[in-house]
Parts: sequence; structure tokens; C-alpha cells
Amino acid sequence: MTQEYLILKGARENNLKNISLAIPKRQLTVFTGVSGSGKSSIVFDTIATESQRQMNETHSTFVRNFLPKYQEPDIDSIEHLSTSVVIDQKRIGGNSRSTLGTITDINGLIRLLFSRVGQPHIGNANYFSFNQQLGMCPECDGIGRKITVDISKMVDRERSLNEGAILFPIFANNSWYLQVYLQSGFFDNDKKLKDYSEAEWQQLLNGNGVKVKVDNHNINFEGLLVKFDRMYLKKEGEVSERTQKQIAQFTHETCCELCLGQRVSQAALSSKIKGYNIADFLSMELPILLERLVEIDQPDVHPLIKSLRERLQNLIDIGLDYLNLARETSTLSGGESQRVKMVRHLNSSLTDLLYIFDEPSIGLHPRDVARMNQLLIKLRDKGNTVLVIEHDPDVIKIADHVIEVGPHAGVHGGEIMFEGSFAELLTSTTLTGRFLQQKLPFKTAPRQAKGQLTAPPASIHNLKNVSVSIPEGVLTVVTGVAGSGKSSLIYHSFLKEHPAAVVIDQAATHTSSRSTPVTYMGILDELRKQFGKENGVSPSLFSFNSKGACEECKGLGYQSQDLAFMDSIRIKCATCHGKRFKESVLRYHLNGQTISDILEMTVEQAVDFFQATKIHKKVRALQEVGLGYITLGQPLNTLSGGEAQRLKLASELHKKSSLYIMDEPSTGLHLSDIAHILEIINKLVDKGSTVVVIEHHVDIIRQADWAIDIGPDGGSRGGQIVFAGTPKEMSQAPESITGRYL
Ligand code: ADP
Ligand code: ADP
Ligand code: ZN
Ligand code: ZN
Repeated sequence: MTQEYLILKGARENNLKNISLAIPKRQLTVFTGVSGSGKSSIVFDTIATESQRQMNETHSTFVRNFLPKYQEPDIDSIEHLSTSVVIDQKRIGGNSRSTLGTITDINGLIRLLFSRVGQPHIGNANYFSFNQQLGMCPECDGIGRKITVDISKMVDRERSLNEGAILFPIFANNSWYLQVYLQSGFFDNDKKLKDYSEAEWQQLLNGNGVKVKVDNHNINFEGLLVKFDRMYLKKEGEVSERTQKQIAQFTHETCCELCLGQRVSQAALSSKIKGYNIADFLSMELPILLERLVEIDQPDVHPLIKSLRERLQNLIDIGLDYLNLARETSTLSGGESQRVKMVRHLNSSLTDLLYIFDEPSIGLHPRDVARMNQLLIKLRDKGNTVLVIEHDPDVIKIADHVIEVGPHAGVHGGEIMFEGSFAELLTSTTLTGRFLQQKLPFKTAPRQAKGQLTAPPASIHNLKNVSVSIPEGVLTVVTGVAGSGKSSLIYHSFLKEHPAAVVIDQAATHTSSRSTPVTYMGILDELRKQFGKENGVSPSLFSFNSKGACEECKGLGYQSQDLAFMDSIRIKCATCHGKRFKESVLRYHLNGQTISDILEMTVEQAVDFFQATKIHKKVRALQEVGLGYITLGQPLNTLSGGEAQRLKLASELHKKSSLYIMDEPSTGLHLSDIAHILEIINKLVDKGSTVVVIEHHVDIIRQADWAIDIGPDGGSRGGQIVFAGTPKEMSQAPESITGRYL
């Protein structure tokens, strides 16, 4: 059979410089190159977008009305394109009913198993589901937890109403809500709550249904708990993150007293297989569950068991062996989410699809990358074309074909620098070729600690009564295989003791769809002032949400279509053509540029443009962290996790904190950028800060002053500090799995 190619001719999306490519079909191709060079512009914005668009064209006009509208990518032609499946790092999220077991459909099989061989039989598979009326625990509706208001946090019993006894913010500052209480006539407003009679106390908390007269209005009096319940806990629909945080401050979650967190009905819990009920199965770590399943010997369920075993084995092979099926998907990290999505496709029998991955090695220890590679290979061997964006040499190594985009980022990139095999790449003089051959050395003179920051013994998640001690004034790396307990130790234990630390992680940065680098860095306010001053008009005209904004798109520059089960799609606003402002606003200039021109500038261009102004320092900070190629007005929700993290780093650099915690800062960075990010981190340490990074990247580990390895393995087989010392010492420590890869 002759080799078939996916052929791109004249691609110009984003920064691409009219490039043409022939990508071998049914092979594994890795795209590499510095961040911002144009990898995603090729793979996502051109190939995946065009594939989706053509898919949609095959539907009738009626159906198409309900589908996202994809803009045609800027390219002359694409030939031999297949249906694409994008497997990215967007977190799966989901509500508390979504678990690893539900999202992989494994729960369905286990429920079927219980309905067939569980003793006693209680009914069909639906009777074992915590998401269906027949099976859910009636007390908690299948959630397993109940939210209880913490009254001691809601009120201060040492104070009277007039002294501000009610601590919940909506009652602050003589608000209307407080007036209702003060004028209700139920309370002596100067009596301390601790002196209330039982009746007064009940009225304050649970009173309901009595009309009271407040400022001549008839108002229904609601006690604190009644009001909180109605306004927050029983509220339908989405609750904003901010409100969620507020709610969390005044409540705590307790385990459901009836099902003890097992989610299903008592009848379902009574049905057992070899002594275990369904909740026991769902909470076992996957390898243990697999062992239990193998022991079931009824011949009639053999096909079912076989199917279960295959699915569990795939999850184990991809390095998720430390999870259990009950794990809520909203608690999975970006890397874990991507691996779960990947497994969902391994069972598919469709072939000749085009699979697209975005840095699948994220969050994986060097030990586990090899296992993940096997899955990429398996997908290819089923007859699919696999495209992977990746920086990790261990993944690039398995590619049938490597494409390097470069030479640099943004306008300095967008060209194809190399095409060929990994062996050829090693001898090439491109950036990747050169960096593949060098490894950063161990630090010769690690910094000495100026003291120790400690946290008491912790046992959260898998931690085995671990106390940690972090040396002050140095760079510490925390290492260990995925699931070993790094995040649990650093975020859930250490951070609780040192709450003033600045955390620079990959969680999304945007608070609204109008967030951009300029709003995030606080540059926009200054920019508006300068525009106002220069033109003698109100600065507010230059804000995306003012009367100066385009009326059609409300200053967003695009219109988005939200679709159930799919990511929302954005189309450029037809009125302002993405410029966000009204024509009248675009008449005003600052040094010859309109506000919209400035928002379209890259950070790099802005550094030149804003010389010697307040803005200069802030755009410099963005350039320093390697974001020179993003534009000032790029919506934050188009940034990758790694880019979002670097944006946070830029905004924190000038704030000077004594303690920084970073989560895999190497994410999204090319080998050649690693030295640069290390430089920034080292500057922080040299200025006196203590920096703790959770990392898998060998070069960063080698360059640290101190290393703490958590393990030895993931899940219940981890949760201990197996090594603490210099990275060089770790490389010689037989007890550390990480040490072997240094
Ligand atoms: P990579 O995937 O190699 O990191 P990208 O393809 O994401 O690089 O980016 C290449 C260039 O295109 C960068 O200058 C980036 O800022 C720009 N770019 C990417 N996405 C968009 C977008 N949606 N709008 C405008 N510019 C973009
Ligand atoms: P790492 O950061 O080293 O990958 P984690 O601290 O995230 O490891 O996980 C350690 C263990 O704790 C794993 O078994 C993981 O499944 C479990 N775990 C982590 N977060 C949660 C959570 N939110 N709920 C339940 N278990 C969790
Ligand atoms: Zn319950
Ligand atoms: Zn518009």
C-alpha cells in the first residue's frame, strides 16, 4: 500500500507563513517548537477546525442551525482529511454526580454485574445507580454528602445585632437585610446573642412565614438558615465561583448519615459480591478492583468481566492506577482529564480517525511517560492518524515523523524548520535538535537554607502522617510519580500553615469573558487614562463595557454560541470586526494608534511602544516570562494552562512575596525555554524568596537546591517522603524512583 498523506497547502492562520506540509496518514506525528511558534495554529486552528467544519457541512441545513459555525481557516487547500477527535487538557469538570466511573461508562458495567450476580438480587442495574431515582440514597439524593451551615461562622454570639453579630456579608453595614431583623420587633437589638432565650434563638435561625413591617413595607421574615438555604443552597442553576467561595466560608460538608457517603440506597448496599457491595468496588484503587473482578467465576458474566478488565487495564496503563471509580471528575487535574479522555477512545472500534493531542505528557513522571506512549502507539496501530503537540524528548522519540515549527514565537515563527525522523532531528541544527543533545547539569553549589518552614503531620488523601520541612531562601522541587501525594502535601497541608504564600498554578485565570492580559495586569486602567488625557475625553469611553463598546457584541469582539456537550464556538463580531469598540471611539489615538490597535499589539511590540511609561514595566514582565508573542487583548480563555501560569507569574513578579508555590512551571515550554524560566525563578530566590515547585522536568529538578521526593508510588502505595536532600544526592538514592531518571 502506498503511503497516503494529509496535505496542507498555503496555511496562513494566525502567525503561519504560507506553509505547506505533507503529514503521513496512519502514523504518529509529533509537532514541536517553542511556545507561540504556531503548533496549535497548524494542528488546532487549521486541521481540527477544518475537519469539524466539513463534518458539519455534511448535515442538513436544519441540523446545521444547531451546530457551531466554524470559520474557514486561512489556507489554500487541505487534502485527505479525516474526522478529527481532539483530546486536550481542558478539565472535564462536571458536577458532583460525574465520577471517573460514570464518565468512562465503567459504572454501567459494574451495575450490570451487581444486577446479575449480587446477593441478594434487588432488581435491574438501575437499582444500583446513584444518579437514578431507583438507586440513589434518599437522604442525600445520591451525592453522599450534605452541606451544613456552620452557625459559629455565621454569627458572633459575643455581640448584639447592633454590634454586628451577624457576620454574613450581606448583613453588613446596616444593609436592608439587617434592617429587616432590627425592625422586626422579635429581638432586643442590644442584647448579646449568647443571652438570647431558646425562642429568640430559634426565631433568629429558623423563623419563617411571619410578615413584619420594615420602613413601611410588609416583608416576610426569614431566619438566617432559612434565608441562606433559599438564596444559596437551594439555588437552581450555576453558582458563580465567587459565591461558591463565600458559601464555603460559612458551611462545611458532612458525610450523609444514612449512606455514609456511599451514595446508593440501603437496598443497593445490601447486595454483595464476595462480601463487597457496589460502593466498596467503586472506592477500590483500580488494580485492587481488577484483582477482585478476576476472582468472580460465574461463567455467564465472563464477557462482562472481560470488558471491565480491558477498560480498567487501559486506565492503569495510562498511569491512573492510583485513582478509584468514585473519584469526582471535577477534582481531576488537566493532565489526568486528558488521560481519561484518551482512554474513552481506546475502546472505540472506529478507524481512520485523526486524533489530536496537546502535550499528553503533562503531569506525568518520566516513569509513566513510557506507558502513555504505548497508548498513543495503540491508537495509531488501530489505523488512526495521531498528531501530538509535545516538548518531552521521551514522547518525541516514538514519533514516526517529527515536524518542528519555528524558529521563534509569534511573528518570528510560523515556519517549518524541520521534517523527518527523530534520528534526523538529533543531528539537525534547529533549536530542538540542539537542545535535545544537552541536559542541564546538577547545580554545583546549591544554596544553603536560612531556616525551615514546616507543617505538622498530615493524613489527608493518601498522606501517611507526613510532616514536611521546606528550607527557606532556596529553590525546592517536590517530585514523585502522579498520585504520589505532591499536591496533597503542598496544597492541602503545607499551604494551610503558610496561607500568605503566592500560588502560581495552571488553573484558569479569567473571571469574566472580558478578561485579557491588559485587564489582568492592571494595564487597561492606565491605558484608558492616557487615552482620555491625550484626547480630552472621558477615560471610560475606552473600556470594553462602557458606552464606547460595540453594541452588537457588547465589547467582546466576537459572538459565542454555547452548545450542550460541546465547547462553545466564537465567531468574529460582524459589526466591529473584532475591534470591540464603536467607530466613534476608534477616531481617538495615542501616539498614532487606536485603542483597538493597541489591544492587537503583541507584548513584544508593546514593550517598544510604551517606552518609559508606567505600562512599560508591566509589559516587560510579560515578555520576561516568555509571553512576548501573545497580544494585549487576547481573551484569557484562549491561553493554555502553561501560558496562564506564566501570566500569573508575570503579575506576581513585582509584588515580592516571601513564599512562592508553582505547579509544573515547565508546562508548555520548549526545552530552550526551560533555562529562561529557571532564570526567572532564580531571580526570585536571589531576592530572598523561598520557592517551591512541583515538577517532573529533569532539567528543573537538577537545577534545584533541594529536592523532596514523595512516593514511593501512587495512591495508597505512596504518601510518604522517600527522600529529602540535594538533587544530586537523590540521583544516587536507591529508594527514590525519581532519582533513577536524573
Ligand atoms: P504554539 O501552539 O506553538 O504555542 P500558537 O499556534 O498557539 O503557538 O500561536 C502562534 C501565534 O499565533 C502566537 O503569536 C499567538 O499569540 C497567535 N495566536 C494564537 N491563537 C490566536 C488567536 N485566537 N487570536 C490571535 N492570535 C492568536
Ligand atoms: P500528585 O500531586 O502527586 O499527583 P495527589 O496529591 O493529587 O498526587 O494525589 C494523592 C492521592 O490522593 C491520590 O491517590 C489521589 O487519587 C488522591 N486525591 C487527590 N485529590 C483528591 C480529591 N480531591 N479527592 C479524593 N482523593 C484525592
Ligand atoms: Zn446518602
Ligand atoms: Zn462587535
